[in-house]
Amino acid sequence: MENLTVNYGAVRALTQIGVTVEQGECVALIGPNGAGKSTLLLTVAGVVPPREGRILADGGDLASFGPEQRLGKGISLVPETRDIFKKLTVHENLLIGASLRNDHAEITEDADRMYTLFPRLAERRQHTGGFLSGGEQQMLAIGRALMARPQLLMLDEPSLGLAPVVTDAVYEAIAGLKRSGVTILLVEQNAERAFGVCDRAYIMNAGRVVQEGLPAELARQGSVEAVMFGHDRHGHSSAVAPDPDELETNQ
Ligand code: ATP
Repeated sequence: MENLTVNYGAVRALTQIGVTVEQGECVALIGPNGAGKSTLLLTVAGVVPPREGRILADGGDLASFGPEQRLGKGISLVPETRDIFKKLTVHENLLIGASLRNDHAEITEDADRMYTLFPRLAERRQHTGGFLSGGEQQMLAIGRALMARPQLLMLDEPSLGLAPVVTDAVYEAIAGLKRSGVTILLVEQNAERAFGVCDRAYIMNAGRVVQEGLPAELARQGSVEAVMFGHDRHGHSSAVAPDPDELETNQ
């Protein structure tokens, strides 16, 4: 992402974002509510149009590609809302993830892989999506995204609303995906979880990237506390000055 700026009507959601994800890397976006993390993922997925800036994938500009074409190019988003098809079975939900593919034998193999990755889904293969727990829905949403064989898997707050033990299972799966070489862009409010799995992180606040670094460094500097709670661990304030660009008339 180069110089990416996004507005919702008159509201500035992202300002001049520069974020890079290398192949095979797991990168986390950390920040408080309203920082713009989901907007960033939705913009990469082609759901929200940027006002300025570019998104490049393998060196090519994605501007002329819509969401479905980006999915075809291997860019897959698991939204915060998960968006499971509630009336379809677990297995049918997985197959929908592969709807742009036509290598049928391999689709079946990939579905089996998802059941290995998430044994709870295997047990519930014929259950309808609406009867799954929150954690199972999250696993299914990730499994469905993986069925597209993405080059880039974007996960929006996979731990949201999950019990710690279920979050553990989801994060174990994410760590396994990373080990198998899947490139991951991960949005999290739970920095500790994200830092446990990612190679690099960007801290966002009020629509901007305020810091980038290695998880250990960011943790040591107390950078996350500073944006999440407005002070670092020594109690020093880090209030962000109001951004004059944040509100502007929609012309
Ligand atoms: P959260 O952690 O709460 O999900 P976030 O970091 O993902 O927050 P976004 O959801 O990207 O933040 O929101 C960024 C800004 O854009 C916020 O000020 C939000 O109110 C605004 N916003 C998000 N979606 C819309 C929309 N559809 N219309 C108008 N404003 C929006």
